[in-house]
Amino acid sequence: MPKDVLNGIVLRVTDYRESDRILNILTRERGLVAVVARGCRKANSKYAAYSSQFTFGEIEVSEMAGKLRLASANAVESFYPIRESYEQLLSATHVVYAAEHISRGDVPNDELFVLLYNALSLIAYGDNDPKDIELAFMAKMIKLCGYAPTLTSCVKCGRDLRACRQIRFSNSLGGSVCERCGSAFAAYSTLALEALRRMMLLDTSDMRRVRLPDGVREELYALIYNYAEYIFEFTLKR
Ligand SMILES: [Zn+2]
Repeated sequence: MPKDVLNGIVLRVTDYRESDRILNILTRERGLVAVVARGCRKANSKYAAYSSQFTFGEIEVSEMAGKLRLASANAVESFYPIRESYEQLLSATHVVYAAEHISRGDVPNDELFVLLYNALSLIAYGDNDPKDIELAFMAKMIKLCGYAPTLTSCVKCGRDLRACRQIRFSNSLGGSVCERCGSAFAAYSTLALEALRRMMLLDTSDMRRVRLPDGVREELYALIYNYAEYIFEFTLKR
């Protein structure tokens, strides 16, 4: 039976039968796939090391009746320290949830794969606040999907907003709005919008440079997730 070699990060695991698991994996070659790992919950299973959430590795899969089965697995990186604090685990969980939500089967997305790999690395091993990496991931994912918001001028009247101290943001209009055009929208500081603009421009390999002041982090957390939940129609347990 022909086998496919894939490089993948396990986004989610679901226990199944007595000792099996279904792995939802983001692969470089085939996008999102669901793979059955038979017997992986047995202590001596050769799949045990790979079959846990966040693990990256090289796998071989075989296809039977439209279903993928794990044929071999080489766990390369478990990002183990993610599991050592609640904050790291929560940020990593949000990141893989969002990645799964926007991914499709048989649609490889190399940029998303590299972005996810970098985000998990920094959440596991970096000295950043995990929320900063989570926000940088979300900002870049939004841009990758073609939803980068307008941030320096009003989406309605085009007025330059860089000199304003407070700016409003509209999810439905996809960007910042001046006081005259939309007083009903939520207001954010110029600092927060400038941080968001910079995060979207940042190279994926430079995400470790994101270090937000506490107030800005809180503002951006609200802004980015309200916007992401609006455009991607997902609900995150925050
Ligand atoms: Zn305006």
